[in-house]
Amino acid sequence: MRNLRFDNRFVRELPADPEPGGHVRQVHGACYSRVMPTPVRKPQLLAWSLEVAALLGLDDADVRSPEFADVFGGNALLPGMEPYAACYGGHQFGNWAGQLGDGRAITLGETINDRGERWELQLKGAGPTPYSRRADGRAVLRSSIREFLCSEAMHHLGVPTTRALCLVGTGEQVIRDMFYDGNPRPEPGAVVCRVSPSFIRFGNFEIFASRGEEELLGRLIDFTIARDFPEIEGDRAQKRVRWFEEVCRRTAVLMAHWTRVGFVHGVMNTDNMSILGLTIDYGPYGWIDNFDPDWTPNTTDAAGRRYRFGHQPQVAHWNLWQLANAIYPAIGKVEPLEAALLGYADIHEAENRRMTLAKLGLADWQDGDAALVEELHRLLHEGEMDMTLFYRRLADVDEKSVGEGGAGHAVAGFADVFYTDERRAAVQEGVSAWLGRYAQRLRGQALPREQRTAAMKAVNPLYVPRNFLAQEAIDAAEQGDLSLVDELLDVFRRPYEVQPGRARFAAKRPDWARHKAGCSMLSCSS
Ligand code: AMP
Ligand code: MG
Repeated sequence: MRNLRFDNRFVRELPADPEPGGHVRQVHGACYSRVMPTPVRKPQLLAWSLEVAALLGLDDADVRSPEFADVFGGNALLPGMEPYAACYGGHQFGNWAGQLGDGRAITLGETINDRGERWELQLKGAGPTPYSRRADGRAVLRSSIREFLCSEAMHHLGVPTTRALCLVGTGEQVIRDMFYDGNPRPEPGAVVCRVSPSFIRFGNFEIFASRGEEELLGRLIDFTIARDFPEIEGDRAQKRVRWFEEVCRRTAVLMAHWTRVGFVHGVMNTDNMSILGLTIDYGPYGWIDNFDPDWTPNTTDAAGRRYRFGHQPQVAHWNLWQLANAIYPAIGKVEPLEAALLGYADIHEAENRRMTLAKLGLADWQDGDAALVEELHRLLHEGEMDMTLFYRRLADVDEKSVGEGGAGHAVAGFADVFYTDERRAAVQEGVSAWLGRYAQRLRGQALPREQRTAAMKAVNPLYVPRNFLAQEAIDAAEQGDLSLVDELLDVFRRPYEVQPGRARFAAKRPDWARHKAGCSMLSCSS
């Protein structure tokens, strides 16, 4: 571990808060505050990602050394680490919320691996910082497991995301009122070490704009371009515009991926939007079981459903508008920002169309496909069909054996994608007719069936971190059994491949999980 090499550009090149200490305050004229992780009682390594360890150049012996749990539990620093918490603001649920910042996340440093890649190491749950507001700076085991598992799963699903190196138990209890209903209880605490080329968010820029700190705004923009977007060329003004265009493009691609895999972030506030277009800040996220564009797992958002599944691309667009407003003083012209925002909609539409075609095994977009897709979504919704299972079953359809008017026997292959007999009965005829149209569409393209099936199974995952699976792993982990966390981590390494003996991880949500806390209902309390 002593080989980890650090090059901490964020703290070296950007201004620090001159005030020492972790007491809560408004921080002006600075991008970050230097703050140490607060040591924990008994750091214990609970789980770790092989792939991320390898990415950083850490081997088995490093991970198993006592020093590892000490460092990633927040009790020790390696030479070269310079801990800090970043200052940022954000729009929460549509309203400007002022200064937020890393209230419980502390970056340890930026390490450079042997391929020359930069990876920032950040502890989440490492204790109070100047940005902790009224909270304790800690994280509970359940939410830490959810972030650890899901961020690694997202990576293997091919969705841009921050990564997670390890999960360390703190040996301390944390008090949480899970549903903000006056029932606080102690829960085991944990720290996740998350890893990303950058943790800069839209809110890092918004905070300076909101305070009129324009010089600092320009500096942070130019720093971000130089460190995180080195491929962007041009003079300073050109670079700034091209950078915003690139942020719009990446965000559009990300939204199409979330739609593809059925991921609902749950809290798409602008402080939870990565400037790199990564999935970041795994909180009350969820996975679509029965297809429902209006679903959100976040009980805090139950009334307005601002961050519901089908609305995420529009919310991202709104968030990009806030970013555009924030960086306007550094651009000085409205037109290029507006053009980039229009570009977002075009890129999202193109990406979404590309991924939709891939999910359906169609080679190109033809007249009539919009209606075909629209009808499918209507049926999936009305029939309360399991989205993930549906697309896997669809890959197995034999287009030659399905008649144009539909086919009862093909529908039979979809029996297990339904959650209720009643819903199945309601859409059975519609599904049969749709399959007839779909099979006809497939027969019209010259793609061999095996090739289509394989291509569809490469974009339609079989294993996704459904909420009930994460919850089972959490229930066991809270009793001291981490084996399910390990097994799920392994299952999600190959989400598109059938894994013998692991059918239960590909099953649809069981009835007990339909209305259970942690499965269909989550809150921001973590
Ligand atoms: P989130 O909704 O998790 O993105 O958090 C919004 C803001 O609250 C961020 O500034 C977080 O750092 C902060 N925050 C969330 N939970 C805690 C906590 N337990 N202690 C301190 N700050 C927190
Ligand atoms: Mg956050």
